[in-house]
Amino acid sequence: MNTKKYYITTPLYYVNDKPHIGHAYTTLAADVLARHLRSRDIPVHFQTGTDEHGSNIEKIAREKGIEPKAWCDGISADFRGLWKTLNIKYDHFIRTTDPAHEAGVQAVFEKLIKSGDVYLGSYDGLYCRSCEAFYDESELKEKNCPVHGKPVEHVSEETYFFKLSKYEKALLEHYEKHPGFLSPRYRAQELINFVKSGLKDISISRTKVAWGVQVKSNPKHTVYVWFDALLNYATGAGYNPDGAGPDFDTLWPADVHLVGKEIFRFHGVIWPAMLMALGVELPRKVYAHGWWTINGDKMSKSRGNFIKAEDVVQEYGVDALRYFIFREVPFGQDGDFSMEAFKRRYNADLANDLGNLFSRLMNMAAKYLEHRMPEKPEGSEIFSELSSWTPGIQRSIEELQFGDALERIWQAVSRLNRLVDERKPWELAKKDPAALKPFLNEMVWCLRLIAGWIDPFMPDTASKMQLQLGVGKTQTAGAEPQKVPPLFPRKQEEKDKPKDIRTN
Ligand SMILES: [Zn+2]
Repeated sequence: MNTKKYYITTPLYYVNDKPHIGHAYTTLAADVLARHLRSRDIPVHFQTGTDEHGSNIEKIAREKGIEPKAWCDGISADFRGLWKTLNIKYDHFIRTTDPAHEAGVQAVFEKLIKSGDVYLGSYDGLYCRSCEAFYDESELKEKNCPVHGKPVEHVSEETYFFKLSKYEKALLEHYEKHPGFLSPRYRAQELINFVKSGLKDISISRTKVAWGVQVKSNPKHTVYVWFDALLNYATGAGYNPDGAGPDFDTLWPADVHLVGKEIFRFHGVIWPAMLMALGVELPRKVYAHGWWTINGDKMSKSRGNFIKAEDVVQEYGVDALRYFIFREVPFGQDGDFSMEAFKRRYNADLANDLGNLFSRLMNMAAKYLEHRMPEKPEGSEIFSELSSWTPGIQRSIEELQFGDALERIWQAVSRLNRLVDERKPWELAKKDPAALKPFLNEMVWCLRLIAGWIDPFMPDTASKMQLQLGVGKTQTAGAEPQKVPPLFPRKQEEKDKPKDIRTN
């Protein structure tokens, strides 16, 4: 029997347009958690991918004069390219056009027709083409789609329904018994109230949409794109009701589905009800994070406030972006992305606090420790105190409180900067050389702690630091001291250049 892996998912991203920073946010969060768990030798499986069916995609592709699949191939590749740029290491990239997924969706549909949880009827409703979802009159905002703010259409068609209403009580019981299932807690109540207000059966097939998974026993229907896409979490892990693949036992149930708050209802209500209908165990947690606005406005290409992650990475490096988005706003809440705030944090937290601390200590260590990796310092107060912070930082990451972890890490960075300012190692070098080495030794070990802590957030920076700090390496004694290049080169206009705080 194989060990259960910690299974993390992001939503599948809809290939209607190129990826932006909002998509990157969820995927980076999954990456931070996955990297952290891997560093603790916990087996992890991290799945992301693209959602590729539906009339919307077909329409866009036709407008561009290409086949839907060719369009999907292109955008799906853009997503994979961005994940590479952002240094995201996933284990599996699933596409809803993958044959194994499509076969799984078809088998699920047939199974549910047989069990009676899916039945044929007809639907009259208000439909948002962009969401590919029906809305209740009461859910509309000024008669428009609550997500897109665009008019909805009246649609009437023969459709299969999923018996969502049947699972109302079971869902409420599940929420009650598993208080961590809907997270964070401040987003849970809205969903619980929605379920309590009474669930209606939902339409899950279309006769007017050709670009989708066909219903096997009634091929004029294609499966509703959300029903299709939600199943990826199970099919990607090898699930098929006609016989699951060998990985399913080691992956299922998913440990956390990371989602944006706009799709919390799909993941917190419809998805668990689908699994109940299939007799499959529910995921352990669905975690809904907030939205990024850009300079106070909702991010959207049509409004022109669209931040391309690639541009930020090109100028500031991938780690600066990875740091900023988790430091600036608690994961879960809404946040605002402004380049001013980004630059401020880059210069203050990264170039100044961490970058300077590291370079001034490493330059001295190169000179005075002669590249010999020092012994672990016995009786160092600061080292043992900071070491005791490790479990708290780990816990914050595991609870998806990334901002808390980074705040704590930067408290340690400040402490070390203060200590260096107080002890003035550059003066010790002249006045008290015997005290210098043990002090630098302590500092090197503290920096090793910091490098380990930031690794899930800033893997490149952590490796650069670890290389200098001799983590996992035997350093050659007596090597020529090297000038350490700055981790985060300062960015600013010459005229308001702050005074250089480096002291050696
Ligand atoms: Zn919409």
